[in-house]
Amino acid sequence: MAFFLALDQGTTSSRAIVFATNGQPVSVAQVALQQHFPQPGWVEHDPQEIWQGQLDCARRAIAAAGLQAADIRAIGMTNQRETTILWERATGKPLHAALVWQDRRTADWCALQRERGLGERVSELTGLVLDPYFSASKIAWLLQHIPGARQRAERGELACGTVDSWLLWQLTGGRVLATDPSNAARTLLFDLHRGCWSEELLAHFDLPRALLAEVRPSAGDFGQTDAALFGVPIPICGIAGDQQAALFGQGCTTPGSVKNTYGTGCFMLLHTGGQAPRSHHGLLTTVAAQTGSSLEFALEGSVFSAGSAVQWLRDGLGIIQQASDIEALAASVPDSGGVVLVPAFTGLGSPWWDAHARGTIVGITRGTSRAHLARATLEAIALQSAELLTGMREDSGLPVNAMRADGGASANGLLMQLQADLLGMPVIVAAVPETTALGAARLAALGAGASPLQDADGRGERVYEPRASRDWADSRLSEWRRAVERSRA
Ligand code: ADP
Repeated sequence: MAFFLALDQGTTSSRAIVFATNGQPVSVAQVALQQHFPQPGWVEHDPQEIWQGQLDCARRAIAAAGLQAADIRAIGMTNQRETTILWERATGKPLHAALVWQDRRTADWCALQRERGLGERVSELTGLVLDPYFSASKIAWLLQHIPGARQRAERGELACGTVDSWLLWQLTGGRVLATDPSNAARTLLFDLHRGCWSEELLAHFDLPRALLAEVRPSAGDFGQTDAALFGVPIPICGIAGDQQAALFGQGCTTPGSVKNTYGTGCFMLLHTGGQAPRSHHGLLTTVAAQTGSSLEFALEGSVFSAGSAVQWLRDGLGIIQQASDIEALAASVPDSGGVVLVPAFTGLGSPWWDAHARGTIVGITRGTSRAHLARATLEAIALQSAELLTGMREDSGLPVNAMRADGGASANGLLMQLQADLLGMPVIVAAVPETTALGAARLAALGAGASPLQDADGRGERVYEPRASRDWADSRLSEWRRAVERSRA
């Protein structure tokens, strides 16, 4: 039996999970990560807290598994994407707090770049949109606001990267500055088509190349941990951003395979193989974890409010006690009684991209009950996801036969059944809920040249077959689109 250590550095917590070759988790350690909001729209993390918390979890997970560091064949890492850290190469000390992906402080910088007419070219090269979400504007902000940083960056004294690069630098004792394509592709600086940093965009944005990490395949050699950290060096053999790690962990490695993560929001990724299709539905084109010699791609879409709509029923309306209560309540009525809820609490994402849309409930009658609202909430999650998949199928032209699901709300059987009914295809809920960490462990095994982690072969999965007619699904979708129109700015 071989063991692999997955480090899963997320937005709200850092986790470490030891996986055995049979693909099962052996031990887990977790620590919460503090969120800092120094000004409205600003979101920061402490890079040292990220590192120390992750290291502490790694040590505790190894101990909890009853193992020694020498028993760990390799480490795989997965991380919150886009979040940006600037540090000094000589000391490994950060020069500033991490600017988190949610941080909007660089909205003006992005608007300025759009005014310069760069929007189209940026999308063409990176598959993304000129938005504060991605790293480039955050790097520009750091260089502009830290005295002397620009000059020092140009002299090669500083390094800047996403959380994977930061952790890798610390783990290797400052020996390796690297990242993988799935993280690089979230910076707004990676040329998807050439598979390297874009000199053109670096020049447009006036960012020094000397700051950036070397891009290596997601499975392979990322160096070894400094011997002082765990007693013996451990090879680091896998890195991928969280959503791409989940895609890989779900076994979605062939064109047309798709996964949707049902958490606070939903994140859907469709593997598109060697093609990087340009979206006409407001989706992003990104890189899947790279396991071979060439890049493979994915379309990505997100639903802003999914599980958070369930939280609203709990905290805002008080009609359920806990999130899981929604299932029984929604199942107590046969349908939503004509009620459609559009949870555009923070605007609408793909395919509408309307920041000014707001939450809307239509179709309320004297007979509407909290059960109808609960049901309409689950339908809203499924409807928004169905719209994403429709866009992905049209953009990619790929046949899609089933969708894989994970995340906290995938525990809801009624939601999964509604999803299968709306899509007209089976929805398969993963047996191991930790698909993100599992993906990192799988990459590590592959990168280490070890035998692959065993597949569950469908054991423990839950499969929801579509039962409703296409007429039913089509009429739900057209009702939904009418309600969305009402919610828009
Ligand atoms: P995140 O990683 O985004 O924090 P999780 O994957 O932990 O999210 O899922 C938590 C979200 O799922 C919460 O928003 C919660 O409201 C929702 N949720 C949890 N259990 C259920 C359930 N049984 N039915 C519907 N939603 C649920």
